[in-house]
Amino acid sequence: MVLKSCALRRPFARWRSILVLALSLTMAAHAFAWGAQGHEVIASVAWQRLNPQARQEVTRLLALEPGQTLESIATWADEHRSPATSVWHYVNFPRTSCKYEPERDCPGGRCVVAAIAHQASVFASHASDAERLKALKYLVHLVGDVHQPLHAGYQDDRGGNRFQLQLWMHARNLHAVWDSGLLRNVDLDNEAFSALLRRVPLASDVLDLDPAHMAQESCRIVAQAGFYPDTGLSAAYTQRFTPVLQQRLALAAARLAALLNAAVAQYQAEPFRSALVSMPVQSLKSPDLER
Ligand SMILES: [Zn+2]
Repeated sequence: MVLKSCALRRPFARWRSILVLALSLTMAAHAFAWGAQGHEVIASVAWQRLNPQARQEVTRLLALEPGQTLESIATWADEHRSPATSVWHYVNFPRTSCKYEPERDCPGGRCVVAAIAHQASVFASHASDAERLKALKYLVHLVGDVHQPLHAGYQDDRGGNRFQLQLWMHARNLHAVWDSGLLRNVDLDNEAFSALLRRVPLASDVLDLDPAHMAQESCRIVAQAGFYPDTGLSAAYTQRFTPVLQQRLALAAARLAALLNAAVAQYQAEPFRSALVSMPVQSLKSPDLER
């Protein structure tokens, strides 16, 4: 009986470990960007920073899909990835330089920098409401992504996805640590996390809305000595980089709000402008953003 029981249990144990492995691989495959919490808190803080005009316009567009909020649409772009759009979530830099060069780093506009500029242009235009809502969904998400340092990292390790680490805080590679491991370690719900981010002092270039500069900042963080840990993760790593993580989330929220404020102002100022007129995103500087 005992033998039979063991014989029955062993295949089950094997299947269970395969199942656990499959689940963790599935989770890794979906670890595309800030985890859901990162995107949601960016959207939540951005919402609070919108001026009344932008808030009204965003509310009007969200009403096309009753029940949606800026926070609830923040992960839509990850949930609706296709081979054509998956390149919109990141940009790769060579290990030798964090200076963005469009021809080299974003051929054919296939990277997060060009995608943000394009979606901002659609959102500020008089395209249909449905198209502008879709552009809003991309903007809320992609402005978050470009502030995740490893979304502007190196191609040879797929933005840290191939830099394996021992299991720590449920993360298996450096990209996942930055997507969700460091956030999870802070251990706050969205409301408390948003409140914390609102108190984070913002860098002086918070009003710089050029997505190329946002990507360059992220790349420079990745290029810092010690960003790739030598010997697994440590308390010192968490201590050093958790404030960096919070600064990136807070900056993403402030810039997203400034971008939406400026785009809505442009939309309202030019009632007859047609869709897809190129709008340099650098021009979307918002003087009304509080530091
Ligand atoms: Zn993404």
